[in-house]
Amino acid sequence: MSDHLHVAEPGKQFRLEHHAPEATPGLSEDEGEALLPELRLRLDELQELLYADRRSAVLVVLQGMDAAGKDGTIRSVFREVGPLGCMVANFGVPTPEEAAHDFLWRYHLQAPARGRIAIFNRSYYESVLVERVHGLVPKSVWKGRYGAINRFEALLAAEGTVVVKFFLHVSKEEQRQRLQERVDNPKKRWKFREGDLDERKLWDDYGAAYEDMVNECSTETAPWHVVPADHKWYRDVVVARALIRRLEALDLRYPEAAPGIVGTIVI
Ligand code: ADP
Repeated sequence: MSDHLHVAEPGKQFRLEHHAPEATPGLSEDEGEALLPELRLRLDELQELLYADRRSAVLVVLQGMDAAGKDGTIRSVFREVGPLGCMVANFGVPTPEEAAHDFLWRYHLQAPARGRIAIFNRSYYESVLVERVHGLVPKSVWKGRYGAINRFEALLAAEGTVVVKFFLHVSKEEQRQRLQERVDNPKKRWKFREGDLDERKLWDDYGAAYEDMVNECSTETAPWHVVPADHKWYRDVVVARALIRRLEALDLRYPEAAPGIVGTIVI
C-alpha cells in the first residue's frame, strides 16, 4: 500500500488479512472530522472544473459487504458536490433484460459522459462476487471476467474516463453491530433485509472473492483502494483524498473564452 490512500499495488500479492479494517493511520478522529469539510469543498470545485473542461469523465466504483457504508460514503463525500454533472447508479439483481445481455452491458450504459462523474453503488464487480459466491455462473465463466473487466476499464481510460475504485473493507464485528443497529433503530429498520444474514454466513467466501478481485483487477490505470472502513470518518477522508488526487492529476482547465468575448456588456 502506498501512502495513506490504501492503494493495492498492481502486481503485488494482496492478502485481505494483512489489512486492518479499523486502521486510521496518521489521523485522529478530531483531525479527520476537521479535514472533511474542506475536502468536500475541494471536490465540488474540481467537479465544476471537470464539467467546464469537458475532456475527461470520472467513474467512481464502490464495493463492499452489506453495511460496509457505500450509501453513507456517497452521502458524506459528495455532500457539497452539485447535482449537475454528478450521478449515482445503483445496481441490484439484474432484470431479465439485463441478464439476457453480456455482464458489462448494463454498466456501460451508465458510464459517465465527458465532464461528468458517475458513482457506481455496486458495479460489474458483483459479477465476480455475488455471482461467484452463489454459484450463479460456473467457475469457467467468472474466471474469464477478470480479464474482460480489465479490458473494459482500459477502454474507458483510453477514451478519457478516470476509473477510481474503492473496496470498503469492514470487519465482521463492525458489520454485526451495524446490522444490529438496523434491527434496533426504527429509522434504520427499512434497510434491514433478512437476506443480509444469509450473506453474512458466507463471509469467508466473500472474503476470498474480494481478495481475488483485488489481485486480478488492481491495475496501473485503475488500481483498487482497499479502504479501512470500520471508522466512517476515516473511510470518508480516504475516499475524498483519493478522488481529489486523481482529479488534480488531470490538469483540468477552464476553456478559453471564444474570440471576441471581451469588454463591457452595454445592451
Ligand atoms: P444495497 O444492498 O446495495 O443497498 P439493494 O438492496 O438493491 O442495494 O441490493 C442489491 C442486491 O443486488 C445485492 O444483494 C446484490 O448482491 C444484488 N446484485 C447486484 N448485482 C448482482 C448480480 N450481477 N447478480 C446477482 N445479484 C446481484
